[in-house]
Amino acid sequence: MSTTTSHEEEQLILDSLDRFLETEVKQHVHQLEHDDIYPTEIVEKMKALGLFGCIIDTEYGGLGLSTDTYAKVISRIAETWMSLSGVINSHLIMASAVQRHGTPEQKAYYLPRFATGELRGGIGLTEPDAGTDLQAIRTVAVRDGDHYVVNGTKTWITNSMYGNTIALLVKTDPNAQPRHKGMSLLIAEKGPGFNVVRKMEKLGYRGIDTCELVFDSYCVPVDRLIGGVEGVGLKQVLAGLELGRINIAARGVGVARAALKEAVAYSQVRKTFGKPICEHQAIQLMLGEMATRVEASRLLVESAAKAFDQGERCDMEAGMAKYFASECAVSNALDSMRIHGGYGYSKEFNIERYYRDAPLLTIGEGTNELQRIIIAKQLIERNPA
Ligand SMILES: Cc1cc2nc3c(=O)[nH]c(=O)nc-3n(C[C@H](O)[C@H](O)[C@H](O)COP(=O)(O)OP(=O)(O)OC[C@H]3O[C@@H](n4cnc5c(N)ncnc54)[C@H](O)[C@@H]3O)c2cc1C
Repeated sequence: MSTTTSHEEEQLILDSLDRFLETEVKQHVHQLEHDDIYPTEIVEKMKALGLFGCIIDTEYGGLGLSTDTYAKVISRIAETWMSLSGVINSHLIMASAVQRHGTPEQKAYYLPRFATGELRGGIGLTEPDAGTDLQAIRTVAVRDGDHYVVNGTKTWITNSMYGNTIALLVKTDPNAQPRHKGMSLLIAEKGPGFNVVRKMEKLGYRGIDTCELVFDSYCVPVDRLIGGVEGVGLKQVLAGLELGRINIAARGVGVARAALKEAVAYSQVRKTFGKPICEHQAIQLMLGEMATRVEASRLLVESAAKAFDQGERCDMEAGMAKYFASECAVSNALDSMRIHGGYGYSKEFNIERYYRDAPLLTIGEGTNELQRIIIAKQLIERNPA
């Protein structure tokens, strides 16, 4: 399967997104972020723009964008406020799981509702004792007639307070060997027994809701088992990780670019020793490196997204993009802070936000330690001795 978006269509979408970010978002970010307030009005406008259906097929009411164009959308949003990209990223990973693996009935029911944002949320994988090692999860779904009864705890689940639906990874057979054969993915809509017990307090990525969930005899109809087959949940999740990693990499490009732009602007107006600091070689060295990081990250994202659109295997490419772009976001945020001097450390400027937001990108969708291991394993597999 190959997906493309024409240049004209892409330009139209990016232009209207830029207008939206400039006129309806930018002026609110500082306060919402610092006060950790959920951006309800902005989210409603994102629904109206169709952003909740970015990569959902047009036959289901989505925009049907290519991953390449979607990555550009995400970079632009993250350049303005990284938290906002999170509102649609994990939602679309859930939607993508249904689009790729769902039964025809599940696609017909859920995808149009995901596309409008009527049903929206994210992915429920991580537990207090299991993140990277997902096969160690303990949330159990026991079949009882035409329902599964779910018990367990999920943590760090983004979009789970203001959203209403998550793709929930469970054990339908906790004793299966290998462990992944007992894992399944359910579409879990909020209802009795689906409890949001705690909002996580975070260093950055504020405004957006990330919570701990407790499932207490929560009932899910069996027709919400994605694909209708037990035991393939982990595979379905892993198949979505390439897209997830491209998402994170695209956010990295956005944050790295925002930090660069502000450094370029500030360095031309701040003067020391009688000249703008951009004329000092020490600052030029940082700017040169920051700009190169942005461009290299952008190209890695584009290359991974294009491979994904062509239906090619791209776990190595997506891993490289995710690893590199997220590290670049961290480095650019810190360099921008150095260039801004004391003002970079002030809560009145954006730089400290980039500095707090960027490290998350090294953790989510597979930590950067894991990314390098994946890259190395792929290298060996693709280049047998
Ligand atoms: C703000 C935020 C939002 C999140 N949103 C979501 C969400 O919406 N849904 C969701 O399911 N999860 C979410 N997460 C959870 C996130 O995906 C996990 O934190 C991440 O997968 C890492 O898992 P962990 O925290 O359990 O770390 P661990 O798995 O305990 O890892 C700890 C350390 O050990 C390293 N490590 C682990 N295994 C290996 C190995 N084999 N080799 C080398 N090093 C290794 C890791 O790289 C890391 O450095 C979110 C997290 C945060 C912080």
